Amino acid sequence: GKTSTFVNAANSDYARASQRDAVQAALIHVHRQLGQTYTPIINGDRVNPLEYSESLNPSQPEEVVGRVGLATIEDAEHAIRAAKAAQAQWQQTPVAERATLLRRAADLLEAQRHELVAWMCYEVGKVVAEGDAEVSEAVDFCRYYADEMERLSGGYDRNFPGETNHYHYQGRGIAVVISPWNFPLAIPTGMTVAALVSGNCTILKPADAAAVTAAKLAEILIAAGFPPGVFQFLPGRGSVIGPYLTKHPDVHLIAFTGSQEVGCRIIAEAAVLQRGQTHIKRVIAEMGGKNAIIIDESADLDQAVAGVVQSAFGYSGQKCSACSRVIVLESIYQPFVQRLVEATQSLNIGPAHLPSTRVGPVVTAAARDRIQEYIAKGQREAELALSVPVPPVGYFVSPTIFTNVPPTATIAQEEIFGPVLAVLRAETFSQAIEIANATAYALTGGLYSRTPSHIQQAKAQFAVGNLYINRGITGAIVDRQPFGGFKLSGIGSKAGGRDYLLQFLEPRVITENV
Ligand code: NAD
Repeated sequence: GKTSTFVNAANSDYARASQRDAVQAALIHVHRQLGQTYTPIINGDRVNPLEYSESLNPSQPEEVVGRVGLATIEDAEHAIRAAKAAQAQWQQTPVAERATLLRRAADLLEAQRHELVAWMCYEVGKVVAEGDAEVSEAVDFCRYYADEMERLSGGYDRNFPGETNHYHYQGRGIAVVISPWNFPLAIPTGMTVAALVSGNCTILKPADAAAVTAAKLAEILIAAGFPPGVFQFLPGRGSVIGPYLTKHPDVHLIAFTGSQEVGCRIIAEAAVLQRGQTHIKRVIAEMGGKNAIIIDESADLDQAVAGVVQSAFGYSGQKCSACSRVIVLESIYQPFVQRLVEATQSLNIGPAHLPSTRVGPVVTAAARDRIQEYIAKGQREAELALSVPVPPVGYFVSPTIFTNVPPTATIAQEEIFGPVLAVLRAETFSQAIEIANATAYALTGGLYSRTPSHIQQAKAQFAVGNLYINRGITGAIVDRQPFGGFKLSGIGSKAGGRDYLLQFLEPRVITENV
C-alpha cells in the first residue's frame, strides 16, 4: 500500500529538566484552579443548570476538581435546534476552512500540553507520562483528520464522451459524540473533530467522571473558531440526556466509545425510526475488550514480563486495550509467573501527580468497589498470586494477579477494567490461540515469541483488531496503528486510520449528460 508522510506529535522528554519543571509548574498552577464551576455551552451561551455534579480527585477524593453543570432534556433540545439551524452552512463551509480550525485546535492543545496533563492527572488519576502521551494523541487526531478530509474532499471523476460522473462526499447531519472517562482528552477530541471536519454539527456529551477535562477541550475548540451551533458542549447524566439525544429524530450520527452494554443499547435505540424521522442513523460504537497476551517457550522473558506489566497495570488497567489475560505455554509457565509477580510487586503505587508513581488510583469509589467484587470472585475461581498494600486514602486497588485461571472463569471472560490480571495455562500453541479467541471481544492481543511458525499462526488466527508481536499491547499511535476492534468490541472502523472519516460522510455521485 501507499506510505504515509504524517508526522506524529512528539511526547515530552522528562529526562530533560526543563520539561520536568514545566509539568511540575503546571501541576501547581492547575491545583490552584481546582473547584471551579463549568457549564454546558449551547449555541455559544453558557447555560446555568439547576444541578451540578462534582468531579473528585481519585488520588485525594477530598479535593473537588470541578463542579460541572448537568444539562437537562430541555437543554439538549435547544442544542439540537441550534445544530439544525447551523447545519446547512457548516456543511457548505469549504473543507480547507474546516481543516484550518482543526489545525488551530491542535496548536492550542500543544500550547496547553502541560496544563492538560495536570487536569487529567487530578481528574481521572492518570500519571504524568501517560497524560502527556494522551495530549499527543489528541493533537494527532486533529492534524490527521484535517489531512484526511483534504485527501477525501476532491472525490473523483469518471468522464465519458457526453457524460461526466463526479463522486464526492458530504456531511451526514447532526452528530452526537458520547465519550468515556478513561481517555478524557484524546477520545472526545478524536470523535468530535472527525465529525466536525466531515461537515457535521456536533454535540459533545462527555463522561461524568471526566467532564472537567472535557470542558477544557470545549474551551479549546471554541477558541479555535468552531461557531456556535456547530460545536456544542453538553455535559449531563448519560442515563438522562444520553437516550434523549440518541433517540432524537433530528440526529443523524452517533459516535460512541464506552462499555459494551451502553454501546449495544445505543445501537438498538438508534435503529428505531422516530416520528418525523426521514433517515437511518449511523452509529459508530467502540466498546470493551478482554485482551490477551500469549507467551510461548521461545519468548524473550525480560521483554515479555516488562510488556505484560505495562499493558496490564499501566493506568491501573483502565484502558480498553489493557492486557487482562496472559496465556502462558506450560513449559515456561513457572519461571514466567515468578518473574511476573516479582516485577509487579516492585511497581510504585501512589497519587497520580507524584513523579515516582507508576500505578495510580482507579477512577471512582464505584469503580474501586466493582473491581474489588471481581477480585473476591477471582479468589473463588483461581489462585491469588499477588496483592499488595495500597495507600489508605484515595481509590486505590492493588495490582492483582491470579494464576491457574480456567478459561471459562468470570475473571477470564468479563471486562474488569482495573489492575487485575488472569494468568492461564496452555499445553500447545494452538490451544493458546484457541483460549485467546474464546471471549466475546476482539480488540487488542499480543504475542511474545521468536518462533516464526507461531508468529505466522498468530497473524492468521488470533482474532483481534490490533495484534502486537513482541511488544506491549497498549499505546496505539494515530496513523501508525489505527485502532479498533470487532466482535463485541465494536462496529466502527479504526480511529486514526484511513477509513475512519468515511463513517461520518455521505458519498454522492452526480452524473451529467453534456
Ligand atoms: P460507559 O459505557 O459507562 O459510558 C460511556 C458514555 O456513555 C458516558 O459518556 C456515559 O455518560 C454515556 N452513557 C451512559 N448511559 C447512556 C445511555 N443510556 N445512552 C447514551 N449514553 C449513555 O463507559 P465508561 O465507563 O465511560 O468507559 C469505559 C468503557 O469504555 C470500557 O468498557 C472500555 O473498554 C471502553 N472503551 C473502549 C475504547 C475503544 O476504543 N474500543 C476506548 C476507551 C474505552
